[in-house]
Amino acid sequence: MLDYLELEGDLTGEEKLVRDEARRFVDEQVKPDIGEHYEAGTFPTDLIPKMGDLGFYAPNLDGYGLPGLGERAYGLLMQELEAGDSGLRSMASVQGSLVIYPIHAYGSDEQKQRWLPKLGSGEAVGCFGLTEPQHGSDPSGMETRAERDADGYVLNGSKTWITNSPIADVAVVWARDVSAEGSPVRGFLVETDRDGVTTNKIEGKLSMRASVTGEIGLDDVRVPEEDVLPGVEGMNGPLSCLTQARFGIAWGVVGAARDAFEDARQYAKDRDQFGGPIARFQLQQGKLAEMATQITNAQLMAHRLTDLKERGDLRHQQVSMAKRHNVRVAREVTRTAREMLGGNGITTDYSPMRHMENIETVYTYEGTDDIHTLVLGADLTGIEAFH
Ligand SMILES: Cc1cc2nc3c(=O)[nH]c(=O)nc-3n(C[C@H](O)[C@H](O)[C@H](O)COP(=O)(O)OP(=O)(O)OC[C@H]3O[C@@H](n4cnc5c(N)ncnc54)[C@H](O)[C@@H]3O)c2cc1C
Repeated sequence: MLDYLELEGDLTGEEKLVRDEARRFVDEQVKPDIGEHYEAGTFPTDLIPKMGDLGFYAPNLDGYGLPGLGERAYGLLMQELEAGDSGLRSMASVQGSLVIYPIHAYGSDEQKQRWLPKLGSGEAVGCFGLTEPQHGSDPSGMETRAERDADGYVLNGSKTWITNSPIADVAVVWARDVSAEGSPVRGFLVETDRDGVTTNKIEGKLSMRASVTGEIGLDDVRVPEEDVLPGVEGMNGPLSCLTQARFGIAWGVVGAARDAFEDARQYAKDRDQFGGPIARFQLQQGKLAEMATQITNAQLMAHRLTDLKERGDLRHQQVSMAKRHNVRVAREVTRTAREMLGGNGITTDYSPMRHMENIETVYTYEGTDDIHTLVLGADLTGIEAFH
């Protein structure tokens, strides 16, 4: 397993334990049939409670039955899950960073007691509704509205491209509170069986196929006051969750890249052409050398990001740099690995092309590559170029 600069040596016993457990889980429970799920466009839902039992949802948070491990253990976990499939890591990212995190950070005590144990164990599934049909990269344009009535709010609007919405029990829906001055964005915990909620599945995806993606329709949905997140107002609410999830993505995609690299390395040693293994050709060695170097760069960035997060100094712009860089690495590495496998590389028998297709989603969601470029540009110059 590629670890060229021996980062393993710096891991604590607990971190190695989490990493090894996740790797074993992926080898035994994910890899054998993930290709079939990918072709069928299904998520292996039987794994949801199993991942809960193993403490895979928000392991970096504590209380309410959550594991309370460090940020590096969380990162390593994301890396191993994405070595299985980005769909699996997306499930854990959404459940942990985009649903459990906002309830943990901004929820009332009753909301935490009610939802965190169930979400942590996988008994309940959550989703995060920010993107709208007309507002993706610029979510501040959101049109979903919440209007006060006697004992709470009435929600109207629609969200799209929502991971897990068709299988979710609860959605964290971000909407404008039009009854308050300035119409601030608020977070609403909306049970998906409430009257007026629809969660249609999006079909026809050519990427992230082993993940369920859907819409959230909100038609006069009544939400009681006690289901509004009390601790946050404004775009900082959803954006702070995205920073958590992007940290996990910066780690996760290293797993996809590493898995594709290892497939290519093995294939190059096993596959004979012109009288011997293709690994003896300088052209193939050049590809492996470049892939290994880029993966190592990405690993270093993920580890450094973690140091900053653990000491409380991490800035969201630094997360943007790592998300942007590591996804680019994974995009390039998975494509090169696919190429090294020749014709066999385009099947689900091998992982590189599946990872490569998944990375197209990862390149786009949680801030597109363009948007993170603009975040960095603004940070480096003090001049915003979004408009
Ligand atoms: C499989 C999948 C799962 C997802 N899961 C979720 C989820 O769980 N919850 C959720 O809320 N959302 C989710 N998303 C939505 C995702 O975050 C959005 O797709 C993403 O933010 C981009 O928005 P958009 O698709 O509307 O593209 P647009 O914003 O319309 O962008 C189109 C293109 O224009 C570029 N662009 C936009 N603005 C600028 C600019 N200022 N300067 C230069 N170029 C620009 C973009 O980079 C992109 O290339 C998911 C998406 C996918 C594909």
